[in-house]
Amino acid sequence: MFYWRGEHEGVQLGFTSAEAGNLAAHVGSADAARRNRVALERVTGSLRFLNQTHSADVHDALEPTDSPPSGDAWVCEDGSVSLAVAVADCLPVLLVGGGPRGPVTAAAHAGRSGLMAGVLENTVRAMRQRRAQSIRAWIGPGACGSCYEVPQEMVNDLASHRPGLASLTRWGTPALDLRAHAAALLEEQSVDVHDVGGCTIEEARLFSHRAAQSRGAPEGRLAGVVWKP
Ligand SMILES: [Zn+2]
Repeated sequence: MFYWRGEHEGVQLGFTSAEAGNLAAHVGSADAARRNRVALERVTGSLRFLNQTHSADVHDALEPTDSPPSGDAWVCEDGSVSLAVAVADCLPVLLVGGGPRGPVTAAAHAGRSGLMAGVLENTVRAMRQRRAQSIRAWIGPGACGSCYEVPQEMVNDLASHRPGLASLTRWGTPALDLRAHAAALLEEQSVDVHDVGGCTIEEARLFSHRAAQSRGAPEGRLAGVVWKP
């Protein structure tokens, strides 16, 4: 069910694999996605997902809402809510810091647009506003810098002042390395970064939107999940 699973300060962290099935209702069968979420929740407890919009908006998981709130990151002051983000090529980033009321947890959906908009900086800021200390981040599977091909103009526009972002595909064309850039942004914020690795485009155990579009791989969304048992 998990591509990678870990533990830190009593908090559980995981990135699902394709074996856990598609976890996003807007992709493929909504019924199957619901069943897959129920199966995952047997491990993680009731999960909160976001209505993700590639923004830099962070939502407080302790604020009740009727439906999934729009935004691209969660923060929870005491770790009491099981948090999830859904991805396929964008990076899932899970964060944990020590806090006065328990572990401060966060989960961010960090694709190209979100990274440019500042979703990771906003997430770290929201954690520190809740007095998180010694923040660690785990960067999960996503499109790697050797696969994530983009037009040269995009590299020119985005990468000149952004550390680690410009890259080349294995076949020598312009690319972006979202993972290296995410790590650099987090390290600038004095966050201790752990890279879980995994390329969604290359590995059949992972869902990739690009691979689904280009070579008919199964469409689906993985989840990055942080929870306190
Ligand atoms: Zn790759």
